[in-house]
Amino acid sequence: MPDDWTRALAIAAHPDDLEYGASAAIAGWTSAGKDVRYVLATKGEAGIDSMPPREAGPLRVAEQIDGAAKVGVTVVEFLDHRDGIVEAGLPLRRDLAAAIRKHQPELVILGNFADSWPGGGWNQPDHRAVGRAAMDAIGDAGNRWIFPELGADGLEPWNGVRYIAIIGSPGATHAVDVTDTMEAGIASLEAHKVYLEGLGDHPMAAAREFLEWIAALNAPRFGDRPATAFELIRR
Ligand SMILES: [Zn+2]
Repeated sequence: MPDDWTRALAIAAHPDDLEYGASAAIAGWTSAGKDVRYVLATKGEAGIDSMPPREAGPLRVAEQIDGAAKVGVTVVEFLDHRDGIVEAGLPLRRDLAAAIRKHQPELVILGNFADSWPGGGWNQPDHRAVGRAAMDAIGDAGNRWIFPELGADGLEPWNGVRYIAIIGSPGATHAVDVTDTMEAGIASLEAHKVYLEGLGDHPMAAAREFLEWIAALNAPRFGDRPATAFELIRR
């Protein structure tokens, strides 16, 4: 992964999305002095089967803020689109363009927004919608005449995004060695305590096992070291 950048904005659909794979790499970046911030499209309020959204939303916000802090991220924003039925339309593009203008990242980190996961399995609709809208919003953020109301709000165009790194992509091209930051990454996922308990016996409820399995899967392609893999797009 290139490291000639100073600020990254990670854009995800739900609390926990960045913790399922990206956060160990993010821990390495923040400990090296880079500024990484999170913007989440939803509060993840539809993510706990046994808990109604009005209770789950605030709880998941708190867990996300806690999880982000475990990897050195202190700026976490929620756009409050409705969990489960996010649409990649103009309102989301406008919100994401505003976030990109506000935070002025050189690197944008996204979750996988392809139809499927590496190795199969249909992707979740909010992931597809948020990733596609974010890719479009990176362009929108740089054009003063798209969403001109953002300029009226004092958000000047930002054309500085040079890299887009997509975590969990079937087309991974680059990686970060997470040998020294794996524990921080695991702690950030374990911060989603009530959420993980709500998953019951699902394999993704076993935070350590899941993250170590993914890092080991990537290792043979990247020097036999545990790694977080990204598809890197240059602009
Ligand atoms: Zn998700």
